[in-house]
Order: sequence, then structure tokens, then C-alpha cells
Amino acid sequence: MSMRIGYGWDSHAFQAGVPLKIGGIAIDHPEGLAGHSDGDVLLHAITDALLGALAVGDIGSFFPPGDPRWKDADSAIFLNLALEELQTAGYRIVNVDTTLVLAAPKIGPISGDMRQRVAELLDIEPNAVGIKAKTPEGLNQDHVAQAHAVVLLEKFDDKSGIGLLEAEIDDPDTVDEVLTKIGVSEGLSSSKSRRLAPLPVFDTEDIT
Ligand code: MG
Repeated sequence: MSMRIGYGWDSHAFQAGVPLKIGGIAIDHPEGLAGHSDGDVLLHAITDALLGALAVGDIGSFFPPGDPRWKDADSAIFLNLALEELQTAGYRIVNVDTTLVLAAPKIGPISGDMRQRVAELLDIEPNAVGIKAKTPEGLNQDHVAQAHAVVLLEKFDDKSGIGLLEAEIDDPDTVDEVLTKIGVSEGLSSSKSRRLAPLPVFDTEDIT
């Protein structure tokens, strides 16, 4: 089974007068995280981990910080784009593990809610989401929140582009086999498959 791993990291400074949102939940705290979007450092790290696992870029390449459309945007939008990329590539999430690094507020009492919300946003079970938090001991970064995220993906759809590109077609029998596997050759005789062989039938735009 094809599996891929991804890692993401993000940081945002605390700022007075900004609502605090981490992991998709609003947290009662005197300061929030400054950012062009809603500053949800955890969702940004998870988004980057997902995009990184697919090797399709990062959150900044999809959502440039200078773009006015993403001013104060709900970071669930970014996460949803990464999930669409995941679907297109034919992968699903096995599990996600995260670590927040921040002096305050304490995450322990709300980590259950945060885990539940992140699981909902990712459409996976809560037991596939790890939420951990540490204080930045010795880092002199008490006004910054950092988030680290690791994701593991597994392939679920052999009709996707990545699977097709990986297929090696050397002889007509293999062509038949692959065409059958991707569901486009049912009813085709071997001679028809052979006739198709020299053509670019594995152009993913034709099939997906
Ligand atoms: Mg960010």
C-alpha cells in the first residue's frame, strides 16, 4: 500500500484585541494570534503537512498573504483546499499528530474540544488526531504560538492521477491489465486494447 508522510510548522505572534482561534475553536483569552487570516496556527501547520505529504507546495503558494480575499479568512478554507488536493490524488488520512508550543493559554483543559473539532474538519475519527502542547521553556518566546504537525496518508483510489503515472506499460497484456484496473476497458477485446496501446490513453485528464 502506498503511503506518504507530511510535516508542517507555523508560528504567529500574540496581539491584543484579536480573537484567539486555535484548532478551529474560539478560545477565551486576552490576546489572539496576529495574521492575515484568522491566525489559526494549528490549522495552518496541518494544512502545510497535508500539502507537503502530496508535494504540491505550501499554504502560501495557494493562498498568498497579500491577497485581500484571505484577510481574516477562516483557516478551515485552507484546510479544505488541502483536503481537495488529497481527494484528487487518491489519498486519505491515516492519522495526524500535532504539538503546540505556547506559554498561554493552557491547552490541556480544551484539548478534547480541539481534537474533536480538528477531527470534524478533517473528516476523520478523533482517535486519529493527536493534540499535544508544551510551553516554550528557555526559548524566550512567550508571545508567540507555534504549531508542528505530522500527517500520514494512504492511497485509496487507483484511478487517481498518481497511480496512473506510476504505471509502467510494456506490453499489451499489461495494457489490458491496467485498463481493467482503472475501469475503462471493460468489454474491450485484447485487439482493441492493443490498438489503444500506442496512444496516450494514460493522460489523466482523459480518465479522471
Ligand atoms: Mg500561519
